[in-house]
Amino acid sequence: MYAEDAGNGITLPASNSWASVPAVEKDQRVLTVDEKKGKKYENFSEWYNEVIEKADLTDKRYPVKGMNIWTPYGWKLMSLIDAETRRLVDENGHHEVKFPLLIPEDEFQKEADHIKGFGDEVFWVTHAGSTPLDVPLLLRPTSETAMYPIFDLWIRSHADLPLKIYQMVNVFRYETKQTRAFMRMREIHFFEAHTCHETEEEAEIQIREDLEMMDKLAEKLCMPYLKLRRTDWDKFPGAKYTVGGDALLPTGRLLQIAGIHQYLNNFAEAYDITYEGIDGEHRYVHQTTYGMSERLIGAMVSIHGDDKGVVLPPAFAPIQVLLIPIVYGEDPDLMDYCRDVLERLRKMGYRVDVDDRPDIRPGSKFYESEEKGIPLRIDMGGKEMEGKTVTLVRRDTGEKSTVSLEELEDSLEELMNTMEQEMFARAQSHLEDNIEDADDLGSISQEKVYRIGWCGTFECGENIEEATDRNILGTLYHGEEYSGKCIWCGKESSIAVYLCKTH
Ligand code: ZN
Repeated sequence: MYAEDAGNGITLPASNSWASVPAVEKDQRVLTVDEKKGKKYENFSEWYNEVIEKADLTDKRYPVKGMNIWTPYGWKLMSLIDAETRRLVDENGHHEVKFPLLIPEDEFQKEADHIKGFGDEVFWVTHAGSTPLDVPLLLRPTSETAMYPIFDLWIRSHADLPLKIYQMVNVFRYETKQTRAFMRMREIHFFEAHTCHETEEEAEIQIREDLEMMDKLAEKLCMPYLKLRRTDWDKFPGAKYTVGGDALLPTGRLLQIAGIHQYLNNFAEAYDITYEGIDGEHRYVHQTTYGMSERLIGAMVSIHGDDKGVVLPPAFAPIQVLLIPIVYGEDPDLMDYCRDVLERLRKMGYRVDVDDRPDIRPGSKFYESEEKGIPLRIDMGGKEMEGKTVTLVRRDTGEKSTVSLEELEDSLEELMNTMEQEMFARAQSHLEDNIEDADDLGSISQEKVYRIGWCGTFECGENIEEATDRNILGTLYHGEEYSGKCIWCGKESSIAVYLCKTH
């Protein structure tokens, strides 16, 4: 509805700038919110748990660690993000499928690297009642090994290609690190797209298109991110290469929010997925995958929330506008006025609600709408009713403005657009402010992203990671010009890598 034409602010320029994003003009209003103050910078974990609980986005009381309950509010938020994801991939020619949850052990064992990567995280089903199963089954940690034996049956000739499918399902991974809502779970809400192509070049094009889709989604999440081509030792198990999408959290650490993988015909060989070309020759298909998860919510909440609670981007907020009648006692006329405005907003297509609970004071309602991160509040009292106006209050900046009913439609549209752009711009400033060039190991001490020179050898990479207690997250996917020295061995280098702690 809004921001459709906002332009893609986060496409990586092929310039020599380290930034993943072209600079956004920072206007005064962007700067009125001080991003670096508040509890989330002082004690992130505690702050994060508190705001998520206050917003009622999840219920952690389920008696299995790492498996939370999706509450109505949290699930609505996830569903709105999923709907946009669906729209983007459908438009790109993908089709939605749903594969079974259980995978037989023998299919899972076919790709050696893949097994090595996931083996220890797998949940097993070994019995039916008291009878052991002939072939043990596992709960999908991801669906390559469920899908690819079937792709072998689906794909016969070049006419069946490209095959582009996706699913949104739960996956299971036995996390041994401390679990955290939306970020590190054992049952994960997951999006996975799988494609098969005739040639490597077509698979490469798909990867570029995946990143464009990710950009569009990230724009509506108001979430800039780095696109980093992982090092060989950090790629997805079984992939030729991996591009990670990494968002910077208030902790100064990166959280991977998307993974896009070029498999070439690595899996195709393991699962014998071939097609007959126009020349009658049989060849292996080239495959890619694109994965995202509920981490999008975790990152979004962390980036935009403040001490009052979460701040949801207008595009995905389950309630975009909340009307609050400023009334003490009964006032039927004011309630009529409220219902009129509510109807108007519904007709405009907004997700809107009115908080007309009679026994709660307006102040408490304001407080609650802030905790829930509702982007816009509309206060309506006697003054507004008389003047046929409403007072709009932005969640992100707290700014108030009064507009007449005639202007309401245009004002809302404009305000939602502005909020989206400014939320993005603030997050982008935070990202840019936290990337720093380093040319000696001694200067790497803060919680931020360091850009360093690297000669490209595994040995130096390993030493750098060990010495700094940080991960090398890779090189910019779109490339950049760099001339410096390997921070470990001192050799001249044209490769810049991004070094950071991760969540
Ligand atoms: Zn080196």
